[in-house]
Amino acid sequence: MAVEQFENLLRTQELDTRLAQIEHARSNHPIFAKIAELRTHSAEIAAGVQDEREERHKLDREQKRLDDEVAMIDAKRADIEAKLYDGSVTGTKDLLAMQEESKNLGAHKATVEDAELEIMEQAEALQGVLDKAQSEIDADDAKIGELEVELGGILAELDVEEGQVKAERAGVVAEVPEELLAAYDKLRSSQNGIVVARLVGGACQACHMSLSAVTVDQIGKLGPEAVVHCDECGAMLVR
Ligand SMILES: [Zn+2]
Repeated sequence: MAVEQFENLLRTQELDTRLAQIEHARSNHPIFAKIAELRTHSAEIAAGVQDEREERHKLDREQKRLDDEVAMIDAKRADIEAKLYDGSVTGTKDLLAMQEESKNLGAHKATVEDAELEIMEQAEALQGVLDKAQSEIDADDAKIGELEVELGGILAELDVEEGQVKAERAGVVAEVPEELLAAYDKLRSSQNGIVVARLVGGACQACHMSLSAVTVDQIGKLGPEAVVHCDECGAMLVR
């Protein structure tokens, strides 16, 4: 029993080490860094074409304005054309003036349409730059999506393993006397690393220092239930 309780404490330590590793893996998995890197890359690409995006919107607004102008010209011309032929205007001078106005509107419309064409060409060139940037952002998003799925799988596996380790730990610590477990917990909370170690050939397996012959001799005289600590590192020694 006495020896077994120390064996159980060693196993508890192994399980606690694994639990700490799981916790670390959960919050520090390299995939997190990869995802963050891709997000930064996407943000840089988006920021890099911000001017083009704004210019594109400006051109869109300008094109809309010109579209409206063309529609207005068309409406005005239709109005004039209707009046020209519906017999409501009879004076030759008035009719000629209206014909002239219709012609002028037609010329103005051609100018507006030329301007619109130029804007469309500029918009197209800008759109090429924006599309290229967007395809890079989309590629990043796709990679992020894949990594998130992978991460989800890894985290789910860690959850399962953590459950198993905790269940095993509960069984193991049930076999360790309360006082001994309390001493172990206290040591573990005060120092990192190994707090329970085997004594092999007079050497502590935590710090690998050899105990003096006198100490080894003294330990040998103690009962198996006695708790012995390494002089060097303070680890509880399992013998
Ligand atoms: Zn030691």
